[in-house]
Amino acid sequence: MKATFQSWAALLASLAAIGLPHAPALSAEDAGTSTLTAGFGEADITPVLGKKPVYMAGFGQNRQATGVHDPLKARALVLNDGAHKIAIACVDVVGFFHPSVVHVRAQLPGFAYVLVSSTHNHEGPDTLGLWGRNPFTSGVDPAYLQFVESQLVKAVHQADATAAPVIPKLGTARGPELLHDGREPYIKHDELVALQLLDPQSGTPRGLLVQWNCHPETLGDKNTRLSTDFVGPAVNYLHERVGCPVVYLTGTVGGLMTSLHVEIRSEAGKPLDDGTFEKTERYGHLLGELAERALSGSKQVKLTPLAARSRIIYLPLDNPMYRLARKIGVLNREGFLWENDLYKATPTKGTSLETRTCLQTEVGWLQFGDLEVALIPGEIYPELVLSKVQDPPDPGAEFPDAPIEPGIYAQMKGPYRMIVGLANDEIGYIIPKRQWDEKPPFCYGRKRAQYGEVNSVGPETAPIICKACKELVEARK
Ligand SMILES: [Zn+2]
Repeated sequence: MKATFQSWAALLASLAAIGLPHAPALSAEDAGTSTLTAGFGEADITPVLGKKPVYMAGFGQNRQATGVHDPLKARALVLNDGAHKIAIACVDVVGFFHPSVVHVRAQLPGFAYVLVSSTHNHEGPDTLGLWGRNPFTSGVDPAYLQFVESQLVKAVHQADATAAPVIPKLGTARGPELLHDGREPYIKHDELVALQLLDPQSGTPRGLLVQWNCHPETLGDKNTRLSTDFVGPAVNYLHERVGCPVVYLTGTVGGLMTSLHVEIRSEAGKPLDDGTFEKTERYGHLLGELAERALSGSKQVKLTPLAARSRIIYLPLDNPMYRLARKIGVLNREGFLWENDLYKATPTKGTSLETRTCLQTEVGWLQFGDLEVALIPGEIYPELVLSKVQDPPDPGAEFPDAPIEPGIYAQMKGPYRMIVGLANDEIGYIIPKRQWDEKPPFCYGRKRAQYGEVNSVGPETAPIICKACKELVEARK
């Protein structure tokens, strides 16, 4: 397939050169003078098993890895428009805290911006602390975190070193059949975005960037073999079919976008079960096919000039479990005194549960010519991305009068958009304030609260993040 593909591409490029009508639309002037360069890099971040326990993240505590099913990776893309160099990297772990991202950036001088996100993998090592031997002990191995940081730097350097001129084409495709929404109201963010970066001469892809919105947790809570879940199979499928490196990004996963409970059948039509490698690999394969559909409809886009804006913000740490986890050292995060200001707060060593403290994190906005990319440091609900917050609120809602947050995509004025979740941090769920539902009476006449709030920093998170994004965009005007 790969060999045929390349000779085809060379043929079509020569057809383009002699101007035959059905040749692919790589505009000649761009082909000759593309100022945009791109390079791809990758490094293995699979932990070594044997010496000390490796706690697996995403579900319960004390899930110790017993083997490796497929290798975990750091994948990177470096874009350069001649004036600005920007790195986009993603790792196969559940989350990567902001302080670790700052460490990585410190080792990458010369970049206008470095994005480090995670796939939110639920079948990899604990990199946050919540999944240790018991609830009172962190599951993080600091040496492993350092290893991941250095592998990220390596992958970015590799991408930088291999950069070459490219022509970008972007396409999207909808895949509602590949998503289950585990929480009412049922709103899916089912748009996959695929960006291919083509060699201007031959027209062959030098690499792909794929963004999808789903929890990589198909293998469930019993699996003890380290895996990328469906991400590795999807990346390998595309690598096989298109013949180039692939950087995979996780977008909107809140509210709850998951592969669990999604009906997936084998090629022979046999239904495949959650918790199995068969379903996980088949899901990755189908996701690869969805990306191919997006690529087949892709159009040439302008990705220059490259611009990045980001802002440090503060989120009140109102979740009592997280406050306690920080107090006993399970969550290793610096504390700040909440001063009712999303942009300013004073560091504090205190861990008193009485004092209202806050977390420091970051929001970002990338503007690549026609493409805008929102960078969200956690698991945002689709309602906030797509401006579909429930209105009027359910009678059981705790904050029925809370203003509706400004939608993320509504801030985007350009023709193309993308969202990266778990971007430069993992602060948990970002829930529309008027859908916050922790105390009885519960929404939708339910007997118990839906899952979500327990893994959110607090009800002020969504209003602050959406406000900060809106102001970041307005700042450009
Ligand atoms: Zn999650």
